[in-house]
Amino acid sequence: MGEFDVIAQYFTRPPKKALLGGGDDCALLQLDQGMVQCISSDMLIEGRHFFSTVSPYRLGVKALAVNLSDLAACGATPSAFTLAISLPEINTSWLESFSDGLWDTADEYSIDLIGGDTTKGPLSICITVFGAMPANEVLLRSGAKVGDDIYVSGTLGDARLALEVFKGSQSLDRESFERVRMRLEQPTPRINLGVALRRIANSCIDISDGLVGDLGHILKRSNVGATLRTDWIHESAAISQDLQRLEVLKRLDYVLSGGDDYELLFTASPHLREQVAIASHKSLTPVTRIGTVTAELGLRVLDLKGEIMSQEFSSFDHFHAAS
Ligand code: ADP
Ligand code: MG
Repeated sequence: MGEFDVIAQYFTRPPKKALLGGGDDCALLQLDQGMVQCISSDMLIEGRHFFSTVSPYRLGVKALAVNLSDLAACGATPSAFTLAISLPEINTSWLESFSDGLWDTADEYSIDLIGGDTTKGPLSICITVFGAMPANEVLLRSGAKVGDDIYVSGTLGDARLALEVFKGSQSLDRESFERVRMRLEQPTPRINLGVALRRIANSCIDISDGLVGDLGHILKRSNVGATLRTDWIHESAAISQDLQRLEVLKRLDYVLSGGDDYELLFTASPHLREQVAIASHKSLTPVTRIGTVTAELGLRVLDLKGEIMSQEFSSFDHFHAAS
């Protein structure tokens, strides 16, 4: 049984009052005047989601950023957050740096910390973010249409490369390591792009568990399939110079199943390519077109010659053997 089977079997019921139940990047609660409240929680546990050696400042940034990334995936504008934190001890210099990271990120998006809980225990951080937006403009996982272009924002695979360096299976020069480490430890939530994609994208998700797995969520909920090209993995703005230096199979693996990217993966009609380019420009966020939504179910990853690759690309699941 995997993470998503547990959620489906034990923690999912048809909604009674909420506009939609779970299943999207945010829970959606109907407000008055056609508005919807978007809510998302994410938990970070020491040893599971971060190394004990990570700087507390960066941990403060990441704890909030990964939550904001889910709001971005729905196209929401963030307004506030709560913080539930369990601390092994009161270490004032740690708390000073952690809270600086948290406040700097909150300031960047002009959001308030409105409550939470503090207890003693193993270090873990659970943040819940809130945002509001017009109900009819929410970006969902379920809206992908046959023929849609598939896009990703920013660059993919860098966080995975940093993780492999930490684990000792890759080595990088100091400068490259610092760059990819920033991507792992201080991801950028694509809030401005999410907002700019309202009324343009048909579906959207943020990539936290890996491109192939997260695209799978869009395909399943939209009841469609897709073909994914891989030419862009060899030379495009979606691949950093640090990833370009990796051997091809490793690069494919890190980009397609890496995870922790916190980039947006979205689909839009080919008629709206110019509007997607404008949204990208307005939000100062590069986007790359990587595939097409198909009526044929399932995901087909194409090699450089356009032939279907037989290699399987996995995604991250907390309860699967390798995780
Ligand atoms: P994300 O990576 O976008 O944060 P997750 O993969 O953590 O999303 O969760 C998938 C979906 O299941 C989300 O809609 C989330 O809100 C929901 N979910 C996760 N855990 C629970 C739970 N314990 N109870 C109810 N819903 C949950
Ligand atoms: Mg998400």
